Amino acid sequence: MKRKACKKCKMFVEGDTCPTCHEAQFVTNWKGRLNVVDANKSEIGKKIGIKVKGEYAIKVS
Ligand SMILES: [Zn+2]
Repeated sequence: MKRKACKKCKMFVEGDTCPTCHEAQFVTNWKGRLNVVDANKSEIGKKIGIKVKGEYAIKVS
């Protein structure tokens, strides 16, 4: 089964709500994966607005 990503912040979520923005809207139709270890040092992370470390989908639809 494909993992689900938060529609708002694009973080991969295991539970029912996103731990970062507390949204419950997810997409399974995502592309690319990005593991952000340090949000302040990640250029691509800045580009898509990541502020918290974690694993993200690069593109969701
Ligand atoms: Zn989120």
